[in-house]
Amino acid sequence: MIVRKSEREIELIAAAGRVAADTIAHVGRHLEPGITSGELDRVAEEYILAQGGTPTSKGYRGFPKAICISPNDMIVHGIPGEYAVAEGDLLTIDVGVTLDGYVADTAYTFGVGEISSEAERLLEVAQAALAAGIDQAQVENRIGDISAAIQRVVEEAGFAVVRALVGHGVGRAYHEDPQIPNYGSPGRGARLSPGMTLAIEPMITAGGVDIVVDDDQWSVYTADGSLSAHFEHTVAVTESGPRILTPVGAGLLR
Ligand code: MG
Repeated sequence: MIVRKSEREIELIAAAGRVAADTIAHVGRHLEPGITSGELDRVAEEYILAQGGTPTSKGYRGFPKAICISPNDMIVHGIPGEYAVAEGDLLTIDVGVTLDGYVADTAYTFGVGEISSEAERLLEVAQAALAAGIDQAQVENRIGDISAAIQRVVEEAGFAVVRALVGHGVGRAYHEDPQIPNYGSPGRGARLSPGMTLAIEPMITAGGVDIVVDDDQWSVYTADGSLSAHFEHTVAVTESGPRILTPVGAGLLR
């Protein structure tokens, strides 16, 4: 069942979304070779708590940390810990924030220092795919319009979309209906209407679509070891078009 939110609820999700987006920018300011993902997690958690929020991931289905940090060929759900950030890394920071009972979800892949030209292009394509998906979050469109727009941008660039991981409704809970695949057919799936709040999140690879899950039961990698990128916004469907509730901090966009 898709839960549509009132205008008041959308403002509450937007407040959580500002904290989530600012957390990513805050973590980005601490990114440098040598810092560990565990230290970045602590920076994020302190920031979220200082804003009056709580990190939604912590304790979610047993996830032990505040945010997910996934380097290079790890696509999503990395558990922060000993990993030391290195020059040339792609590092995905995925943040859920709960504030006043409402949840927003956003992710951003950073390039650390000088990155390869392929990595640079992967980031550009993933962001373009997210923008194309968001553009389709219009009243009377369908979920498949979002999915197809993302898939088209990614595949035209010669990259692949991960099949096994999808976007989702968000707001009253971390994961709500509907599922939002990053591939599909226009005109298919649930019809979009005002008040829907959606986490749209292309997860793409420079190689194949297959994934493997680590022994830790969380970390998801590309099966072929190829690089991955992941960008996510929480978006409200409104009569006047899609509204991004997790606006990226100034200067963050590459
Ligand atoms: Mg998400």
